[in-house]
Amino acid sequence: MPRLQKILAQAGVASRRHAEELIQAGRVTVNGKVAQLGQSAEFTDQIAVDGKRIQVSEGHKTFLLYKPKGVITTASDEAGRKTVLDLMPVIPGLHPVGRLDRLTEGLLILTTDGDLTLKLTHPRYQHEKEYRIWSEEELTNQDLAHLEDGVELEDGITEPARVIRAPEGLYLTIREGRNRQVRRMMDAIGKPVRRLVRVRLGGMTLRGVKPGEYRQLTQREIEVLM
Ligand code: URA
Repeated sequence: MPRLQKILAQAGVASRRHAEELIQAGRVTVNGKVAQLGQSAEFTDQIAVDGKRIQVSEGHKTFLLYKPKGVITTASDEAGRKTVLDLMPVIPGLHPVGRLDRLTEGLLILTTDGDLTLKLTHPRYQHEKEYRIWSEEELTNQDLAHLEDGVELEDGITEPARVIRAPEGLYLTIREGRNRQVRRMMDAIGKPVRRLVRVRLGGMTLRGVKPGEYRQLTQREIEVLM
């Protein structure tokens, strides 16, 4: 039987060390009884943290992270900079799906499921990606039309996109996922990006998740994404 802290970590509740702290603080119950540090449990046991039942399984784990600015989307960085995995519970095989560049914020999927990664990053599975854009300069209607129709980049013209000018800002939706695409599109029209946040991927948004926080996706959400 696995240790309780391992199950909690695998369920995405906390890192193993934080899980130990939760147990020591008496905040974890197994089948209604307050758990002790060192205790083992079955995946079929009813495990709760602060009275809230957690979903435990031996299967794959998939998360939605609100990546903050300045964090790198790689598993490890040679220069020792902070990576998205530093923000996540320690789960073997967890890796980011696609990437956001260092200065870009927002919605990033991480999973232990390599098949899911292949599917989501395959050109055939082109989900809409929506970005909120801040630029130093106001965009003209001509700029918006240019972004929508296609912008000439060094790796070819971009596919048709959708732009919405909302009271609170500008939103650009694309299906492609080229390297630094939005920044390069904005550079190409002479309106460099000051801040960039991915706010949506397919039907998934950042709702309820703050910068640096994550939540585990349900099986249903993953199915919709695929
Ligand atoms: N476009 C960018 O410029 N950066 C990202 O991280 C994603 C899309």
